[in-house]
Formats: sequence, C-alpha cells, structure tokens
Amino acid sequence: MRAALNAITDELKRLKNAGVKSVVVSAEGLAALGKIVHARAARAALQKPAVPATAAKPMPNPVATAMHSSEAVGAAEKPSAPAPRYETPAASFTVKPLVSAADRDFPSPPSVALPEGDKQTRWDALRQLVLNDPVCRAQVTPNKKAVMGVGNLDARIFFCGDAPGPEEEAQGEPFVGPAGQLLNKMILAMGLKREEVYVGSFINWTLKPAAGQKSRSPMAGEMAYGLAYLKAQIALVNPEVIVALGSTVAQGLFGTDAFKTLGDIRGQWKQFAEKPVMVTYHPSYILNTLSNRSKRAIWEDLLKVMERASLPISDKQRNFFLEK
Ligand code: URA
Repeated sequence: MRAALNAITDELKRLKNAGVKSVVVSAEGLAALGKIVHARAARAALQKPAVPATAAKPMPNPVATAMHSSEAVGAAEKPSAPAPRYETPAASFTVKPLVSAADRDFPSPPSVALPEGDKQTRWDALRQLVLNDPVCRAQVTPNKKAVMGVGNLDARIFFCGDAPGPEEEAQGEPFVGPAGQLLNKMILAMGLKREEVYVGSFINWTLKPAAGQKSRSPMAGEMAYGLAYLKAQIALVNPEVIVALGSTVAQGLFGTDAFKTLGDIRGQWKQFAEKPVMVTYHPSYILNTLSNRSKRAIWEDLLKVMERASLPISDKQRNFFLEK
C-alpha cells in the first residue's frame, strides 16, 4: 500500500513539474484514496509510541548515486548482500493521447530514399535529408539545427527519446542537455560508453509550447513525420534492441490505444520493425521525481535489455537502486 501511495505521490510531483495543473481521478479512485487517508488518520490517532521516536538515519547506498555520478560502473564486482524486497512504482495515470486540432494541417510524412553505399555514406545522406527538409526547417528555431540521431552505426542498442530540447537544437544532436547527461549515466551503468550505442529522437525539432504553457505533447502528424526518419535510422543501424524512452515514444511506435498507462507496457518486450523493443521511463521522469524507486524501475528494464543484448551483468549491477 505504501509503495502504491509513494508511486502516486511521485507521479503527481512529476506531472506538477511538467506544468500539469489538474488530473482526472475517477469517483472510485477518489473513494479508494479517501478510505486510505481516513484509515491512516485513524491509525495515527490511536498510535502512541512506547519509546521516543528517533530520527531514522538513512543507510548509505553505494550504488544510489551511480546514475548521478560520472563514475563508470565495472561489470565484474564482488557479489553484494541478498536483494531486499522491492516494489516498482505503478504508473497509474492515463497517458495523454497525441491529438490536436492542428494535426489536420501537418504535412504528410516524407518518403526516405537513401543512396547505395556503406552505412556511413547512407547515414550522411540521411542527415542531409533531415537538415535540409523544409518541414523540419520550418519547425526548428531560427538559426538552430534539426536533430537527428547519432552514435555507433553498428550499435547493438538504439535508445529513442521523444523530442529534443533547446540544447539539442543548438547542437543538432539528441540528448545533450540535462536528460542526456542522465541517459549517459544510465548507459555507463550498463557498462557501455555513449559511443557504443545509438541515440535518436522521434521528432526532429523542439516542441514549442503555446504562450503561457511550459510544454506540449507532440501532435500525431509530427510523430508520423518523425517516424519516417526514425524508421530509416533503425533500418540503417539494424540494432539488436530498441529502448523506447517514455510514453510518447511508446505511443508513436505502438499506437495511442496500445496501453493506458506506461506501467501497462514498460518492462515487457514488444516488437517494432522486427526489432525487440523495451519501453521504459524517459530520463526526465527521474530528473523530476529523483526517487530511488523510479531509478530502480528504469534499471530493471535496462537489466532486461542487457540480458537480451548478452551484456555481462555483475551482482553489483543487479542490485543497483534497491532500497535497504
Ligand atoms: N528528450 C528527448 O526525448 N530527446 C532529446 O534529445 C532530449 C530530451
């Protein structure tokens, strides 16, 4: 029960940080929450501690900072203590659908034709197509660049985010801002370097929010447009595994009706373009919640990816972000 309440609190904080002002809760949900709160209040009123309460000192967790430190994590470490019980958060909020009235006006997706040649030649041609695409150019902030994926063209793992931010548009590369710093740490924690993987973005430009809003979801038309270039990158790199970062990417790959909450779909193997796909939380989710439970949830998904890609996994890695 406590885990479920913590998960709800984390999710509400994340939504608040993302600028969401209200959430819809069903009558049944409200009644269930009301019961919990009343039961807690009643228990608290009845409880009298036999000894004075002392402030609990948090146990130092040697791995809790791994995603926040720049230290690479070695694969061959000594076995650590048995894993304590851990519950992953239940993502219990309905994912926003990618719909907008403006969709009707969005141009149809491009058909992508690449020249013959080796991977580098075809990738260079694809990048030129994206950079010079008039639709991308019209969306990109003036004097900034459209963003296409980068990385190892023979990567076994292809990470895909939803849409770049201003830092990414400035450099024309995905995941170079704060979410990217965290993604780099996740990749390091997997025993890999960023140069060994491929990192892409569904959409090739920053989503400009309407006046007075902090952010906006992509439109279905924008997602369809980006998908054409994303598919071309997946075909070119031909990775063993795709990691879909967040619900927007999952909606883009599997459709808005494929799941109701990210919790319904994350941590399971799906397929897209004949590739196994692991959906997990976007690194921004961790930046917003900063909870160990969210880190562990992502980490459990990444452990599955490591297994699938036959990467070595130490006992220490298996136990990252477990609560003591
Ligand atoms: N989030 C994304 O999904 N992509 C980026 O490039 C940066 C942040």
